[in-house]
Amino acid sequence: LYNMLQEVRGNIRVFCRIRPLMNSKSISSIEHVGNDGSIMVCDPYKPQTTRKIFQFNQIFGPTTTQDEIYRETQSLIRSVMDGYNVCILAYGQTGSGKTHTMCGPSGGLSSNDLGINYMALNDLFTISTSREDVKYDIRVQMVEIYNEQVRDLLSEDTSSTKLDIRSSSNGLFNLPDAKMCPVQSPSDVMTLMLLGEKHRASGPTAMNNRSSRSHSILTVHVNGKDISGNVSCSCLHLVDLAGSERVDRSEATGDRLKEAQHINKSLSCLGDVITALAQKNSHIPYRNSKLTQLLQSSLG
Ligand code: ADP
Ligand code: MG
Repeated sequence: LYNMLQEVRGNIRVFCRIRPLMNSKSISSIEHVGNDGSIMVCDPYKPQTTRKIFQFNQIFGPTTTQDEIYRETQSLIRSVMDGYNVCILAYGQTGSGKTHTMCGPSGGLSSNDLGINYMALNDLFTISTSREDVKYDIRVQMVEIYNEQVRDLLSEDTSSTKLDIRSSSNGLFNLPDAKMCPVQSPSDVMTLMLLGEKHRASGPTAMNNRSSRSHSILTVHVNGKDISGNVSCSCLHLVDLAGSERVDRSEATGDRLKEAQHINKSLSCLGDVITALAQKNSHIPYRNSKLTQLLQSSLG
């Protein structure tokens, strides 16, 4: 996916965040980071044969703070308020820091080292209150995709949490039955994120770190109306993808194998969509997975 993504400039931007090593015994696979956004990695045990170079828009080192990461995405939040659809997604192996970057340390919202999700929403409110000429209405949905099934993370009624994707008259896919929660302040958002987190932790994906095997999507719908009656309608997708690690076929069986196959398929569909967009193909294969269906409006 990285290699496909890196070919694209402008509308698609790819950043690399290097997390700190877990402990003093960990060995880094990073050989060199260039200040042109290139990074050289290798297998530390067989460095000669495994060297690879990847190119990003920018690379953030292990001491980068949550604030510094967020600052890079901040300009996109203004675009959302101006009516553009935006998608921010975290991709990487389990343990690479996706949830840390999107939600905060250990995915928890209890610390003050909050992630992109919260800071983005905080900014949406700041901008919406600063614009006297436009009145904004902000609503959020939160779902997860596990084994190609979409589950509502904000619904209190656990019996109706499985959701169907429908295609609407404008050709876009949506989730008409997912709970849509109006929010008026950062604290409203915080309450919902905590609820979503609780449901994610207690649902079928909760056991043995299974949440790394589901994609979580926080969708923010922004409707603006100015004094002369012009309306804008846009959405921001904030996505914590399932772990991208390859599961060894010989080891995985049963549920683990099924999960791995669903993840591999949906991540490769995402790669196909991004490649098709980058090549400006006339046909973009959004239909091939639930993930790409749900992200269609902001990817295209
Ligand atoms: P993922 O969601 O990709 O599986 P996590 O975000 O859960 O990974 O990160 C794994 C662990 O590493 C967590 O305990 C997390 O708090 C920690 N961690 C990840 N990135 C950083 C970072 N940039 N700085 C400090 N700790 C980090
Ligand atoms: Mg995670």
